[in-house]
Amino acid sequence: MLEILSLAGGALSPASAAERLRVADLGLMRRLIDSAQAAIKPAAAFRAGYVDQKRAEGVVVDGVAFTSRVLRRNLDTVGRVFPFVLTLGREMDGRIDASGDMLEKYLLEEIANLALREARGRFEAHLRSAFALEKISCMAPGSLEDWPIEQQRPLFGLLPGVEAALGVRLTESFLMLPRKSISGIYFPSEATFFSCQLCPRERCDGRKARYDEQKAREYGVLK
Ligand code: SF4
Repeated sequence: MLEILSLAGGALSPASAAERLRVADLGLMRRLIDSAQAAIKPAAAFRAGYVDQKRAEGVVVDGVAFTSRVLRRNLDTVGRVFPFVLTLGREMDGRIDASGDMLEKYLLEEIANLALREARGRFEAHLRSAFALEKISCMAPGSLEDWPIEQQRPLFGLLPGVEAALGVRLTESFLMLPRKSISGIYFPSEATFFSCQLCPRERCDGRKARYDEQKAREYGVLK
């Protein structure tokens, strides 16, 4: 059954946001955060799912097949997983779109990304405590060639009612609307896994871990 979780938390700190985004004008940052805060409505939809089959090229979760050797390997010893969608909601997209100023638009995008990261942290904390999990990792369709964006379709298939519950839908190109949304599958893991460890892309602001060629070789994704 789909569970819906509000992830509203404390307000973003203008000082730390200004430092992270390298913005000297604290007054501007305070004003933008104040105006963004009312539009940010973070929430997640998720459920526990069970791995029915482990195949050479992927896994089947509650009857839904996923094709990814990396996911398959990460779920080698895992029986229960947590497919999810998390969003800041439509209003924040609207707040960004309504801005006619390029700098303000850029900063609002970045403020939304910070809010998304904080909401994700609260969601992870909830999963760990609600399901007594010490360590969890996540994979998202589209983060690696091995698990392409088209796999959003079966992921959404595991979360029926997500559009009615959160207002999140897939476009024809498998992107999510509202834009400030993330999706994926969390799973228990002994060590934290990041798709970035298998991704050799050189310039990426979103990188969360260093590229690990040895690991990429072990996972069979090295070209
Ligand atoms: S390095 Fe960037 S592109 Fe590669 S998986 Fe990480 S976030 Fe995605």
